[in-house]
Amino acid sequence: MSIADRLATLSASLPAEVTLVAVSKTKPASAIQEAYAAGHRHFGENRVQELIEKAPQFPKDVVWHFIGHLQTKKVKQIAAHASVIHSIDSEKLLVEVNKRAAEHNRVIDCLVQVHIAEESTKFGFSVEEATTLLTGTLPATLPNVRITGLMGMATFTNNQEQVANEFAVLAGLFNHLKSLRQTGYDMQVLSMGMSGDYKLAIQQSSTMIRIGTAIFGSRG
Ligand SMILES: *Cc1c(COP(=O)(O)O)cnc(C)c1O
Repeated sequence: MSIADRLATLSASLPAEVTLVAVSKTKPASAIQEAYAAGHRHFGENRVQELIEKAPQFPKDVVWHFIGHLQTKKVKQIAAHASVIHSIDSEKLLVEVNKRAAEHNRVIDCLVQVHIAEESTKFGFSVEEATTLLTGTLPATLPNVRITGLMGMATFTNNQEQVANEFAVLAGLFNHLKSLRQTGYDMQVLSMGMSGDYKLAIQQSSTMIRIGTAIFGSRG
């Protein structure tokens, strides 16, 4: 199947409220072009260098999602390109995104990354830390970031029950924060689910899935 065919089949299978981010990391611009020509606009990259090389090659209507770990010192490089940053994992990073977005007169949508997996290698706040940040006074003081939701990655395992439970933890936090209705954030986006686990994520009320291999093929 072609990239366009895989996109069409996948899109048709998703509930209307779920946004599909096509994760184009490691893939050439020609692969993105194929998806773009088929009408797709949301693309995800996880490396600063790749994003800044690819983004200028595409029209402005592409919505670039930065999904990888982001070093504070590199925010400056992506501030003109990224529309959504999924990987806010420190207060310092959030403050820096606000500063650099302001330099470009932009507002960047930010998702707070929460560590829900068993593996210790994955980045993100704990549930408690994320709650502290979001219910604190800082977010409302940052006019050039809009905190629109949460992102999480489940453990890489075949244990479906475990994956579902981890997604449920993130969904629970999302709903809790939403119910608090604080002014510093607006919980709209629950970014969870990749090629191997997006169906479970959607069952746990994901609103945004990040899909690479199921669209573009394996990364070799
Ligand atoms: C690579 C990546 C994805 C996509 O993974 P696939 O298994 O190829 O769908 C999603 N989210 C993040 C954060 C990634 O780094």
